[in-house]
Amino acid sequence: MELPFAESYKIKMVEPVRKSTRAEREQWIKDAKYNLFNLKSNQVFVDLLTDSGTGAMSDRQWSEMMLGDESYAGASSYYKLKEAINTITGFPYFLPTHQGRAAENVLFSALIKPGDLIPGNAHFDTTKGHIEFRKASAVDCTIDEASITTLDHPFKGNIDLKKLEKVLVGNPVEHIPMIIITVTCNTSGGQPVSMANIKAVSDMARNYGVKVIFDAARFAENAYFIQQREAGYERKSIREIVLEMFSYGDGMTMSSKKDAIVNMGGFIALRDQELFREASTFNIMFEGFITYGGMSGRDMNALAQGLYEGTEFDTLDTRIKQVAYLGKLLHEADIPLQLPYGGHAIFVDAKRFLPQLPKEQFAAQTLAVELYIEAGVRAVEIGTLLADRDPVTRENRYPELELLRLAIPRRTYTNNHMAYVAAALINVWKRREKITSGYKIIYEAPIMRHFTVELEKA
Ligand SMILES: *Cc1c(COP(=O)(O)O)cnc(C)c1O
Repeated sequence: MELPFAESYKIKMVEPVRKSTRAEREQWIKDAKYNLFNLKSNQVFVDLLTDSGTGAMSDRQWSEMMLGDESYAGASSYYKLKEAINTITGFPYFLPTHQGRAAENVLFSALIKPGDLIPGNAHFDTTKGHIEFRKASAVDCTIDEASITTLDHPFKGNIDLKKLEKVLVGNPVEHIPMIIITVTCNTSGGQPVSMANIKAVSDMARNYGVKVIFDAARFAENAYFIQQREAGYERKSIREIVLEMFSYGDGMTMSSKKDAIVNMGGFIALRDQELFREASTFNIMFEGFITYGGMSGRDMNALAQGLYEGTEFDTLDTRIKQVAYLGKLLHEADIPLQLPYGGHAIFVDAKRFLPQLPKEQFAAQTLAVELYIEAGVRAVEIGTLLADRDPVTRENRYPELELLRLAIPRRTYTNNHMAYVAAALINVWKRREKITSGYKIIYEAPIMRHFTVELEKA
């Protein structure tokens, strides 16, 4: 008999979670102005809002917390982290930051000027926010296959080389400070980028004298998919694949809250000393001195340990199989999903789930509210609210993909929780035709509106 899948860890400490009634949830979500970011965590039973900073640290990471060196300058924790980053990424220079967007803020302060263009594969929301805040533009060059949710393509995070070349040919290179490769590509559904594509983008960038920067939050999951799906990599270790991936780039920004399995933290890693020096000035202004930059010593220790654990095959295999387990339960019930299953999340195609809703009524947000009312499961909209308004015309942007994301925290929930979530969504699927109206906005911020938006029933 073939042995079934089982987690590569056992549980040493638990955190109780509370169930609620449908009547309670109806009141709470109304009080939250139908924005799931406004819910209190104890109003949620299974929290799939994000996999960011919500993972469970290991006993070794907690042990490292006790060994933190809190010296202002030159702490041993800094050197421990420096060695981990150098060993795993191959980049010689690094700056700690308090999270991923802080890394973007520091690096982009050194690199981006007004009017610049930054091509890439479906830039993440904070990345795009930091680009547009500097009066520059993010140019999405993701392959068209990424937006066909039913198409089972192994590397839907890939950059379309023709689209990229068009940007590089059609604009002065001094206005293209970098190409950003997001691994895995969160916005297109946690989809990986192939090694062949990374190499081809890097070759093209070199020809034009443009830098390649990785938005690397889920670099280890990307490496796992390369190992599983790309010819020639099946016998390579995750660490070998990671080193090769980063060898094609000039640097990276990292949200350590993802694949490095810590609750807070980030960094920039770079190949070039000159750029490192420029970025250091901004790091000191915005984050802290270059040997702690927004992190305490104990957190740098836990991060160093998390980088090693997060790039172990067993850790990744357990995680990605749990995500696929949820995906399979939903797929077997005919719920429309982005295929193949993502690395960190399952993405439900809300346009096909609720085709009766007009695009102005936020189908994915409507589905998120329904799933919460059904079972206390918190997911998140990756659709029109997130896409925000065009910074120039101020018109709503209606993205190709209107998705509900079920993001799975690392090492946090069991497969019973996944089965619970699947049953809840299947219940909503069975009553989908009765959902005849969505929501309208009553308040929105000028940028990154989805975090604080307030809604009422349309
Ligand atoms: C989370 C994330 C970021 C931002 O990181 P924070 O730690 O949340 O600030 C940037 N890019 C990608 C792809 C991410 O997933």
